[in-house]
Amino acid sequence: MHPVLLSASFLLVIAIAWSFALLRRLRDWRALFVFAWLAASMLLLVLSIAGQLRPTSVAAMIGPGRLQQLAISGLSMAAVIYFHVVFQRDALTGLPNRALIMHRLGNALARVARGRDPACAILFLDVDRFKVINDSLGHTRGDKLLGFIAERLKTALRKGDCIGRLGGDEFIIILHGEHEEGAVRVAERLHEVLARPIQMSGRDVFTGVSIGIAISSRGNEGAESLLRAADLAMYRAKLQGSSRHEIFKPSMQVNADERLQLESDLQHAAKRGEFVLYYQPIVSLATGRVHGVEALLRWQHRERGLTFPDVFVPVAEETGLIVTIDLWVLEEACTQMRRWQRELPGVRDMLVHVNLSGRQFLRSGLVEKVAETLKRTELPAGSLGLEMTETVLMDDAELATSMLGDLKTLGVKLQLDDFGTGYSSLSYLHRFPIDSLKIDRSFVTSMGGSGKDARIVRSINALARDLELEVIAEGIETTEQLEVLRRLGCHYGQGNLLCEPLDASKVEPLLSAGGLPSEPGSRPPRPASSRALV
Ligand code: C2E
Ligand code: CA
Ligand code: CA
Repeated sequence: MHPVLLSASFLLVIAIAWSFALLRRLRDWRALFVFAWLAASMLLLVLSIAGQLRPTSVAAMIGPGRLQQLAISGLSMAAVIYFHVVFQRDALTGLPNRALIMHRLGNALARVARGRDPACAILFLDVDRFKVINDSLGHTRGDKLLGFIAERLKTALRKGDCIGRLGGDEFIIILHGEHEEGAVRVAERLHEVLARPIQMSGRDVFTGVSIGIAISSRGNEGAESLLRAADLAMYRAKLQGSSRHEIFKPSMQVNADERLQLESDLQHAAKRGEFVLYYQPIVSLATGRVHGVEALLRWQHRERGLTFPDVFVPVAEETGLIVTIDLWVLEEACTQMRRWQRELPGVRDMLVHVNLSGRQFLRSGLVEKVAETLKRTELPAGSLGLEMTETVLMDDAELATSMLGDLKTLGVKLQLDDFGTGYSSLSYLHRFPIDSLKIDRSFVTSMGGSGKDARIVRSINALARDLELEVIAEGIETTEQLEVLRRLGCHYGQGNLLCEPLDASKVEPLLSAGGLPSEPGSRPPRPASSRALV
């Protein structure tokens, strides 16, 4: 065979194989059409080259020049259709992308408006803790996981339903003709299909989605506003915990406005001196002596009254205000502890724990800020403990390791907060220069239940001992929990049973006494209403 012909045929095979592989991922019937078109055009091109070298019957019939023209226009058409398909598809999952899904949502709403469908429901899905999974598995496997999730979700849908990916870990599903009941049934099915673990590289990955549902029964809302409504409902579902669904209610819109107000109030709170610190004692479980206190932030809001951090810290984190707030907490807590150390006998060896949010931790200059604060307030570095969650550290484990190293050099103590709730990477646990683990409240709370959580607490305790770390159990509410933790040899405890968070003046007598009243009275936990979210 002539070398030109040989290379043309080789190119033909490569092009067809390549386009087939790419288009197969898009899972669109038009892919077949583009594939056939491309193959035919390439064949024409080969024939036309062959005709120029040695007249073939087809080339002789049509004429080699014309054959080439046909081949080139065929190839350009294939390219146009190919890009049309590609630009409407999400490359990772092959699902319709945002543009296509919004177009389809517009059509679905138009059908409702014309009375051809009784209603239309959309489901806004967001993968729970995807960032954490992504960080622990690596981005390539995170992408793969999204593909698996998309496949699973599709198995829960019927033929006419439409699913697309909005981007990141967000999916959208359009259900034609469905009211609330049908949409909730689908949401339940989606939770079910994701309840089974996904096998990836020989390990089971557990995942779930939070779902927001919005219904249109008149079809007169715009596609964007219906999407926003479903998004708000999803946000609500997420606040309830993982694998939940919520139906949009107009009150959620009001709450969004309220949130804006909260944001603006938060901007002024520090300047108006509305923040106050409460302190919760951390007690040695062996001796009953107070080991230190955790500084917990409260906001004395002019209208809302005493407001708890779970209401405003997420807002402060999103707006970046948390950086200023946490620095204020650090300064205030160090000043207070230094004052106590000077004025109260027996407080000299106690620590004050301060919580650090993700943004602040990864912000450059934190180490210098801590050093400056310690110098200004004259608090010995060993009297300060910094609490960070593993999720925050895993955001950028390399950077975290080096910053923790610098903080350690200053002499401050480091605690891993809410331990057990993130995707703990044991290899990093070993590398982070931390001093103690704080067992998350959820394990302590349900310790008496299935027995499984007691085993988790026991394992964390054993792990900490092996790594020569101290263990603090938080959220102790009952004497049974206290007893079990004591038996397990847990070093320190914190919780409403021992002492709830108190303002500085009220916690002072306990600190000067050095310990809590011998039989800790069971105080009622904080009323649920006061923790209500925005
Ligand atoms: P956290 O660091 O896990 O703090 C422990 C939370 O558990 C505190 O809630 C504390 O009041 C509560 N708690 C303690 N014992 C018990 C108990 O026996 N039962 C129950 N149900 N709860 C108990 P709080 O003060 O509402 O703080 C919530 C979260 O807000 C904290 O969780 C922490 O992540 C964050 N936070 C608090 N203060 C600050 C701060 O100054 N800066 C930052 N960035 N975050 C803060
Ligand atoms: Ca904490
Ligand atoms: Ca905690």
